[in-house]
Amino acid sequence: MKILTVDDSATMRRIIKNQLKQVGFEEVDEAENGREAMGLLARGGYDLLITDWNMPEMCGLDLVKEVRRSDAIKALPILMVTTVAGKEEIVTALKAGVNNYVVKPFDAATLQTKIAQIAGKPGGAR
Ligand SMILES: [Mg+2]
Repeated sequence: MKILTVDDSATMRRIIKNQLKQVGFEEVDEAENGREAMGLLARGGYDLLITDWNMPEMCGLDLVKEVRRSDAIKALPILMVTTVAGKEEIVTALKAGVNNYVVKPFDAATLQTKIAQIAGKPGGAR
């Protein structure tokens, strides 16, 4: 499973990458904002997008909307990783098309659970 993880914090990207490795996901690329992520996603081949919400250039919410608007990648499963945990924000994220979300900080087991839940969720393009 090829994963793209997007976060403006290099530390956070390293943490997520390490946690993914702990639970068996070895093929992980990184991007530091939504714009860079769209460039990588355009090449295709990704099975899951894990994105932060607050980022410069293009934030996670705009990234989600752009993915869902793109014919080539609109069905890509998306997990949003964020410190924004309000009910309203979560509804906004779900409406934009995220399949699941996880609130920082989290451990590898939680990340694994959130990824596993996506398989059983409709979510995605709408
Ligand atoms: Mg951020």
